[in-house]
Amino acid sequence: MHIREFQNLMKELYYHRDSKRGIFKTFTWLVQEIGELGRALLDNDREGLKEEVGDVLAWLASLCNILNIDLEESAINKYHGVCPKCGEKPCRCSTEQ
Ligand SMILES: [Zn+2]
Repeated sequence: MHIREFQNLMKELYYHRDSKRGIFKTFTWLVQEIGELGRALLDNDREGLKEEVGDVLAWLASLCNILNIDLEESAINKYHGVCPKCGEKPCRCSTEQ
């Protein structure tokens, strides 16, 4: 399954709810799922991690559906084979921010 197909699946399953909930409440759900991912990391909960990464992707796809953004296109436009900052693969950017 490609990212676009997954986003379309989320649209078929949830768009009727996502569009009613709106952008900012959906964004809040995404942030909550990222928090749950952080909790699974802290707890070293391997099964929880697997579940939470799926939830984070699902909520990101839902947010993109409301915003009418093609997640796959956005990802590929930014990350098209090389690091967008240094233009290298693998990235050679300094690890210091
Ligand atoms: Zn880089």
